[in-house]
Amino acid sequence: MTKDEIRSYLEFYRDLGIQSIYLRPPDRSVESVSAPVTEPVRAPEIPPVLLEPLRPSVALPALEPPGDTLEKIREDIGDCRRCRLCEGRNTIVFGSGNPQSPLVFVGEGPGADEDQQGLPFVGRAGQLLTQMIDNTAAKEGLAIRRSDVYICNVVKCRPPENRTPQQDEMETCGQFLYRQLNTIKPKAICALGATAMKALLNTKEGITKSRGRWHEWQDIPVMITYHPSYLLRQYNQQARREAWEDLKTLLHYVYD
Ligand code: SF4
Repeated sequence: MTKDEIRSYLEFYRDLGIQSIYLRPPDRSVESVSAPVTEPVRAPEIPPVLLEPLRPSVALPALEPPGDTLEKIREDIGDCRRCRLCEGRNTIVFGSGNPQSPLVFVGEGPGADEDQQGLPFVGRAGQLLTQMIDNTAAKEGLAIRRSDVYICNVVKCRPPENRTPQQDEMETCGQFLYRQLNTIKPKAICALGATAMKALLNTKEGITKSRGRWHEWQDIPVMITYHPSYLLRQYNQQARREAWEDLKTLLHYVYD
């Protein structure tokens, strides 16, 4: 990475209010290093993101069995072997957070850390998501933290080599996601990345075109934004600023 890229990287995280950045050395486990930004650099003005309500592209069937609960859904998943992703998993990662939350974040699927711990978004991308939620809310004067929202994934088992879930795996496991969302009935959903977007909206649109606008899933507003793992490896300053704007819009809509 060049010095300019490092500067751009740190500026972005500073803008989010982030004081510590987690690095994974090539041959060692995750460690946290303090990375304060010492040189004040004024960020450019960001134009407001235009929000445009859209209808879902397909009519989705009702997916809420009578009296459904998160406990019942987890019970129905059981020691699931409904798709090939069961073969490499250690743990089924169901979801975590506040089951009465007005906001649900949906990611793609568990990674290695999540597969070990049985919880969503606990690795590097999860640490970034936590910082983005906590620091953006604090900066915007909203009294919420990550523990106040609910977080889950499209597929509940880790795909081998962290590959993107295949269509049939998303469809098979998606029934549980839909039941989770129908049970929680949040005020809004945040789809993190292209896989979550496709699972909820059945769209062929690219994420760069869909993000920053309101869509709908079963009459629930859906905000699309980038997956935190994309932001970790993508040194495009614009993508990071866009994700920050998306999150601000989302949090104000849900919590104002
Ligand atoms: S990914 Fe979902 S459908 Fe596939 S085995 Fe795991 S829990 Fe079952």
